[in-house]
Parts: sequence; C-alpha cells; structure tokens
Amino acid sequence: MSKEKIWMNGKYLYKSEGIINISAAAFHYGTSIFEGILCIMTKSGKRSAVFRLQDHMDRMFESAWTLNYKISYSKEELESAVISLIKVNKYDSCYIRPVVFEDADYLDFGSKKNILNIVILCKGFNHALYRWKMRSCAKVMISKMVRNSWPDVLIKAKISGKYLNSVVARQEAKNNGFDDVILLDSLGNVSEASSSNIFIIKSGAIKTPRRENTLNGITQSSVMRIAKDLGYSVAEEDIKVEDMLDADEAFLTNTASGIIPISQIDSKKIFERNQKSQAKILRNKYIDIITGKDIKYQEWLSYV
Ligand code: PMP
Repeated sequence: MSKEKIWMNGKYLYKSEGIINISAAAFHYGTSIFEGILCIMTKSGKRSAVFRLQDHMDRMFESAWTLNYKISYSKEELESAVISLIKVNKYDSCYIRPVVFEDADYLDFGSKKNILNIVILCKGFNHALYRWKMRSCAKVMISKMVRNSWPDVLIKAKISGKYLNSVVARQEAKNNGFDDVILLDSLGNVSEASSSNIFIIKSGAIKTPRRENTLNGITQSSVMRIAKDLGYSVAEEDIKVEDMLDADEAFLTNTASGIIPISQIDSKKIFERNQKSQAKILRNKYIDIITGKDIKYQEWLSYV
C-alpha cells in the first residue's frame, strides 16, 4: 500500500482511503477545479520552497467562482494545508494537486444540495532528476482542434471538463511522434499548448498570446516579469502560426516543467538542442529563482 498521504476535507488520510462517490457530479460532468503547484528543494539543500502558492490559491478561488462554487475553507487555511501535507509526507520536492469537486447523491450537477469536496494530493520526486529533466526541449505539432476561447466565460478557469479537446489533440501529437500540441483559438491565433503557455522570440523581442485567450499561467506571468527585469521587450499580442514558424525561438511554460524550448514545429526545426538561446538564459534564471538562489524574487517562495 502507498504510504503517501492526502488531505481531504480537513483530514490527513492514506491515498487509498480517499474514496470518491461513484455518483459524484465531477466524475460524470467534469465539474472539478484543480491546481498544479511545485515544491522544490532549494539550493541550500536544507529547506524546500513552494513556488507562488498564494497565486495558485487565488487562481483556484477564481476558477471556483466561475462555477459558482463556494469553497468552505479560506485561502490561508488551504495554503497551510498544502505546507502541512508536504511535511506529513516528508517530501523535499513534490508536485501538489489540490482538487475541488462536486459530489452528488443523485445524478445531478450544479445543484445547491451538492457538497463540495476538497482534496490535496502530493507526489514526491527526486529533485536532482527533476532539474535534469527541466533541461529538455519539445517537438510540437499544430493541432486542428480549436481551444475554447473568448467569449467563453470559462476560458481562464482551470476546470477538468475543459481539457477534453487538449486530451484528444495531444493524443494525436504523441501518435505522430511529437511531445505536445499547439492549439489555436477560434480566430486562428496561437493560443496555448495542451497544458502550457507559449512564447516566441523574434529579434530579441519576446511575445506571448494575449492572456484573454489562454489560461493565465503562473509560470507565464513569472517569465514575463523576469524577462522585463532582464531588460527584454515583452508583449502580449495576437500570434499567428506564421509568426511562430518565423520566430528565432519559441518556448513553452508550465509549473511542472518550467521553461521548455521548442525544437521543432510540425516539420520545421527551429532550435538545436545544444544551441545557445535566450530561452535557456530565462530558464536558468527561473531555476535560480524557484530554488531560492536568486533572492530578488523571495516573495514568490513559501518555505516549508
Ligand atoms: N495552460 C493550460 C491549459 C494548463 O493546464 C497549464 C498548466 N496549469 C498552463 C497553461 C500553464 O500554467 P502554469 O504555469 O500556471 O502551470
């Protein structure tokens, strides 16, 4: 039996004890909201830190708001629950997944009678291996699937039911030998990858799709701030497939993997693994920040 503990509705349980009602609305209709949060051992080798915990909780509460969910814990209580769960599991590095999901005794959704469950899962990993993995590149394919976009009110919410077109698109990409997929919005603009935001770099200027059309990535906003602080020009604007293909560099961002340079888009190679690049400069800076080496961004770290 896994020794891993979870936090569920205020209690610490073994993962196998985290039982979900088979009639839960979330299971049938995709009405669960979630976050993915990173905790990593810092450079000191003594303390771990969670990256931008408050911002993840803010986004989770905003997602809950779009589904009219009232979470019965405060953000601060859930932040403490995350930190305590990491300690209970004795992890020095882990990926944390809070999920708020709608339960139901009858096969119904959106009912006021339905209870909201909150569970926090936490998966430990070896931080040395993780930092090595963070240095990979990705080959991406442009998908024909359209990412749900404006005026869809759910666009910024991290809700499980919304991921289905990304699931199908990524399956297709993997079957064709790619690592990930780029989805366009309904106007044909580049939107995001299956679970990452996108950046392109052209003649030193960094661009990312307008945040109205994507999940507001926490890594994306971190990269925008870091790049500006490093003196780069950073803009949010509409990006067409041609702009991506014509870029000097492109990269993906997400909590789980950080900054991932894109080596190939469809059949076009745009980046060699060993090449020096601005994406790699940003990635090294980002790793220094999440591991507490660069103290300028200490306010982003919650030490365990
Ligand atoms: N877009 C989507 C659809 C995602 O699922 C994720 C992962 N949460 C991201 C972008 C990147 O967001 P973040 O940097 O907050 O992990």
